[in-house]
This record gives sequence, structure tokens and C-alpha cells, in this order.
Amino acid sequence: MKIVRPIAELREARRSAAGSVGFVPTMGALHAGHASLFAAARAECDTAVASIFVNEAQFGSAADFASYPRDEERDLRVAEDAGIDLVFAPTAEELYPPGFRTWVEPNEEGLEADFRPGHFRGVATICLKLFNLVRPDRAYFGQKDAQQVEVLRRMIRDLNLELELRVLPTVRDADGLALSSRNARLTREERRRALALPRALQTRDPGRARELLDGVDVEYVAVAEFEPRVLVGAIRVGNTRLIDNVPLEGEDA
Ligand code: AMP
Repeated sequence: MKIVRPIAELREARRSAAGSVGFVPTMGALHAGHASLFAAARAECDTAVASIFVNEAQFGSAADFASYPRDEERDLRVAEDAGIDLVFAPTAEELYPPGFRTWVEPNEEGLEADFRPGHFRGVATICLKLFNLVRPDRAYFGQKDAQQVEVLRRMIRDLNLELELRVLPTVRDADGLALSSRNARLTREERRRALALPRALQTRDPGRARELLDGVDVEYVAVAEFEPRVLVGAIRVGNTRLIDNVPLEGEDA
């Protein structure tokens, strides 16, 4: 597995990549959810590329960005074990040099966009930059972040990007909690409370879900007309914000 940091080296590695290229953008703190995306890229493409970059532009607060879990040594092992050929792990200075001021504004509204102003602008901008650098044939994302998938699908269409978006099912722990880098911050008691979210969403009924979340700090629970339609929810447990969704139609419903 090759690891590159400067953009110039990434471009060089891309030029010599054989056949079709699959790409998995991540912010590190890798878990089995990321590994499932790596495995799909490995299985479906000749060259599997991952990026590890904690993108400050998509964080709402400096404190959340600063406390985001980081363990690059471990991440590189996870990527290598999953058969990734090339990891792009750039510095912030490389991707956002002084004078940077061109942004992708997806104009997304509702749900995450309301609770995290500017989040999808940060996501769309970094994804377009990474797509331009890696030039993948297919890019892999998790259904866990259903609204992110919607925003990226629209960006790909609106800006005529030539790549296939592949979306993989949410990977969960045995207790039902969707894997997330942020789960590491939960105390045992907080984790117990967090389980209310997947349990509520699995009813596939917004009214019933809200009842089951009585006493929990809920930001939203709603049916979203995404592709596929989903029951989505976001809660706060202590200092941690958790999101999850359950498809209401299609294979996973
Ligand atoms: P992140 O590192 O949080 O930016 O996530 C990188 C990619 O992994 C995104 O496409 C996420 O949707 C995906 N992902 C995160 N958690 C999960 C999960 N539990 N199951 C499947 N994919 C996930």
C-alpha cells in the first residue's frame, strides 16, 4: 500500500494507476463501516484508493474539530488489511492554501442542514476537490449519512461529474448502534441511552419512534424523501451528537 501526502505525488500515483479506480473518502478513525466501503472498492475496481483527511470546513465548532478522534497509524493498518492500494493523507495547508476562497454551495435545506449550518458546503467542497484529484470511476459512501449521499448525488448531476456513486448499507454493532467515529466518546451509560435511536428508527414509524425517544434530547425524527426513502433521526447524548436512519423501501427496508 502506497501512502502519499503532497498533491503532486497523488497526481503521479493516479497517472500510473491501472484500470478502473474506486475511491473511499474518509476522515479517519476507521471502523468496520469504513472497511465495508474499502472492501466494495477492492472487489469492484482494479485500483482502490482511500483518503484520510479531517476536513475542518465541515465542522460547526472548533472544539468538535479539535476533539475528533485521530489515529493514523491504526487507520493505515485498517486500510492495508482491507486491500487498499493507495492512501491520500494530505495536510490542511495542502488542500486549503492561503487565499483559498472557492466553495461548492449545495443549497441543502432541512434536517442536518438546519442543525449544522455550512456542513454540506464543507462536505461538497472537499468531495469535489478529492474527486478532481483522484478522478475515480466509482466513489463509495455509507447509507449511514443518507443526506450526505443526497447532496453528493445532486452535486454529481448538477456539475456533470463523470463518476458512479456507490452507496453501501449502514454497519452496526451487535447492539444495533450504527458504527461512528464519535461512538468512542460515549461513556457506558451514554451508549445505553444512545441505543434508543436505532430502536426507535427500526419501528419505521415516525410517531412510534418519537414515543420511544421520550426523555431523549432529540434534534429531529422525520421521514425523508431520499433515494431510498428513510426514517432519519438525530439525537444528543451528553456532548455527542448521533445520527442514524433506516430505509423504508428497497433491499434494506
Ligand atoms: P467519515 O469518516 O465519517 O467521513 O465517513 C466516511 C464514509 O464512511 C462516509 O461515506 C460514511 O457515510 C461512511 N460510514 C460511516 N459510518 C458508517 C457505518 N456505520 N456504516 C457504513 N458506512 C459508514
